Amino acid sequence: NAGLGSWPERRRTISPHRDALWFEGVTTSHRQFSDRIRRVAGALAGLGVRPGDRVGWLGTNHPAALETLYACGQLGAVWVPVNARLTAPEARYVLDHSGASVVVHGKDHGSIADALRPLTHVRHWVAVEAPHGESLPYEELLTDPEFRDLNVALEDPCLIMYTSGTTGRPKGAVLTHGNMTWNAVNQFMGMDFAQDERTLALAPLFHIGGLNGTVNPTLLRGGCAVLVRRFDPAETLAVIEEQRVTSFFAVPTMLDAMSREEGFRTRDLSALRTIGAAGAPLPLPTLRTWLDRGVTMQQCYGMTEAAPGCTVLDSADAVRKVGSAGKPVFFTDLRVVRPDGTEAAPDEVGEVVVQGPNIMAGYWNDPVRTAEVLVNGWYHTGDAGSIDDEGYLFIRDRFKDMIISGGENVYPAEVESALLELPGVLEAAVIGVPDEKWGEVGVAFVVASGGTAPDAVRDALRERLAGFKVPREIRLVPALPKTATGKIYKPDLRKELQS
Ligand code: ATP
Ligand code: MG
Repeated sequence: NAGLGSWPERRRTISPHRDALWFEGVTTSHRQFSDRIRRVAGALAGLGVRPGDRVGWLGTNHPAALETLYACGQLGAVWVPVNARLTAPEARYVLDHSGASVVVHGKDHGSIADALRPLTHVRHWVAVEAPHGESLPYEELLTDPEFRDLNVALEDPCLIMYTSGTTGRPKGAVLTHGNMTWNAVNQFMGMDFAQDERTLALAPLFHIGGLNGTVNPTLLRGGCAVLVRRFDPAETLAVIEEQRVTSFFAVPTMLDAMSREEGFRTRDLSALRTIGAAGAPLPLPTLRTWLDRGVTMQQCYGMTEAAPGCTVLDSADAVRKVGSAGKPVFFTDLRVVRPDGTEAAPDEVGEVVVQGPNIMAGYWNDPVRTAEVLVNGWYHTGDAGSIDDEGYLFIRDRFKDMIISGGENVYPAEVESALLELPGVLEAAVIGVPDEKWGEVGVAFVVASGGTAPDAVRDALRERLAGFKVPREIRLVPALPKTATGKIYKPDLRKELQS
């Protein structure tokens, strides 16, 4: 009875009058939030949702995302957030693969619901906010359930979260109530969460960083989640000021976009205590800009499969250990291993493996891929990293993205961060292409301000990096393809080179 599904009930009695949510001008207390969750659980039970059943959520950030999550927890059902930016066929894959029987969708996702209604096994589509077509109206279904007993255990699945799909078809990581709880505890300890935390739910809640980076830990602690539907850099800065936001989680591309806004200099950001940045390497110029603005930046490393926190760089080390993802979170072990499984020496690059109570149960209905990554209790991340003699982790890149050029390993992330330090370079992505002489060579896609010449970029890189790391070609492009979580999507760049 200790699962995530039970804590909104506890908050109802421990801190009933504190703010739990703020969304579009409306504040909800923990007691009201807990009442809503109970009524949503009643609605889902009324639609036939039973323990173990999957319930989809398809929408941008909205209180209903969290209501359906915790309502599932109360029922012992499993929440399946669907990436709101997927096309209908991609969303169909997630719904079919997870076997969702009910899907709750936001107002912008009615047409996807219409397209998928005849194609999936989903029995009921439910529309939040505006009524839509044949979807059932969310608010009208809410009812006080008869059950009072919570029947979830820490080992029970809480949600199936599909990975970002940065390297291919998304995998459905099954996260248990225990995984969610331990991640929250790890985050409290690593990021010093206070009871009066006001966190901004900025990154999408259908992504693990958006859901569990700061939002769930804050709610569990008794604080308030300030929700914005989607990321808009200027509006976000306004909300941070108005709502006296104290913390949030973001991916580096978001932080970079915000720092280019006028509001970054003019808005009052004085309540902002810390930002957790993860999902991709944090470029040094972005880190400096925020530190100069007086905001603490905590670089974290994690992944969907770890719910997601694995390491955090203490703010005191932000400058001294720049580029590091920090040290393992309190209840999680992390090692860097060689291909034979032995531990790498300090500074030697190997695969990052993690173990702890936050690591997923496995991939949903996929024993083959589960067995590939969960070996003797250790989750194999596929990330190349090293640990220095003081125990700090440095992530190089994904092994899949590593370029082997003339027998030397080149980590695109290193080349990208060198590119980002050059004046005029706004965004950069490096991928490997086959080459007769060297085996593979790098090609860089660069978004730059006007007047930047590819040759000048290459010459500047030559001064910073060994010759074998310098991309053979620098291509100036107007924009880079991104995943819904804001990461650069390299498969599209590879396709572009092939066509
Ligand atoms: P998929 O597994 O579907 O290809 P994905 O790995 O991008 O997608 P996520 O679980 O969202 O899906 O992302 C986790 C990955 O993000 C990590 O394995 C790592 O490669 C990268 N990452 C996370 N944090 C950092 C960081 N601080 N520095 C560098 N890379 C990071
Ligand atoms: Mg991954």
